[in-house]
Amino acid sequence: RSPADETRSLSARLIPYGSNQYLALFRDVTKILGLQAMRRDFVANASHELRSPLTVLAGYLESLAEDGPLTEEWREPLQEMQRQTRRMTSLVEDLLELSRLETEDEQAGDQSVAVPAMIRRIFDDSRLQDSSGHDLHLTRCEPVNVLGAENELYSAFSNLVLNAIRYTPAGGRIEVSWWREDDGGASFEVADGGIGIEERHLPFITQRFYRIDSARSRSKGGTGLGLAIVKHVLQRHGARLEVESTPGQGSTFRCRFPADRVVVVSAPPVALS
Ligand code: ADP
Repeated sequence: RSPADETRSLSARLIPYGSNQYLALFRDVTKILGLQAMRRDFVANASHELRSPLTVLAGYLESLAEDGPLTEEWREPLQEMQRQTRRMTSLVEDLLELSRLETEDEQAGDQSVAVPAMIRRIFDDSRLQDSSGHDLHLTRCEPVNVLGAENELYSAFSNLVLNAIRYTPAGGRIEVSWWREDDGGASFEVADGGIGIEERHLPFITQRFYRIDSARSRSKGGTGLGLAIVKHVLQRHGARLEVESTPGQGSTFRCRFPADRVVVVSAPPVALS
């Protein structure tokens, strides 16, 4: 019971009780939701405030590196400062993206996103940025669009491709595919021949800052937020993430979109590589 002018949030659970009866358990979660909203606002505000000073720092460091009056012994410390500033900038960008996803409506918009062209862009960009020379292939890319938000899908898919590059030794094979399922849904898949993930870690990898090997993730430019972003984007598109992995052999990450989010288009076929 609560005062008439106060809105409370309740969570409810039905527990089987006897042969055909149920027990309904209600829990007042108003306070918990309030604290979660405060935490989200704090992270969003702090990240926003950190953005401008980081931009200034990055700008000055770049000018110093290019034509600053520095002696040779400063070259390496300066490069390290640039690396760390880039890391902080990625972290702040990912924190902002995650808090935006957490505060938006439950469902993404319903713009028809041209996924095949987007995947081709992600694939070409990743190949250009991949300094370790992985064996990257776009094995399937069917003319299927998704109803949703393009910037979010771009971010989720590129996070999965970047992870495959990050956790696969130089030269290893990575396959990207996009196809229509028999049930009318569609799947985006990234399969790598990388280090893999032990089964006991799988339930936790989409939690914020959960990393199996922090040093490796950091040294490869990871923020520990990529899969949390992927999970939120997929939730907002009614899609789910499936992961299969064998340590020492590789991992497959698949995003499965339901039929009501999928639009078949008659686009020219996308060249594969
Ligand atoms: P990070 O920025 O550390 O990569 P993510 O949220 O993207 O953070 O991933 C969480 C953790 O899951 C990573 O730190 C890594 O340990 C593991 N992981 C993610 N993708 C892969 C993959 N393709 N192969 C092996 N491990 C992975």
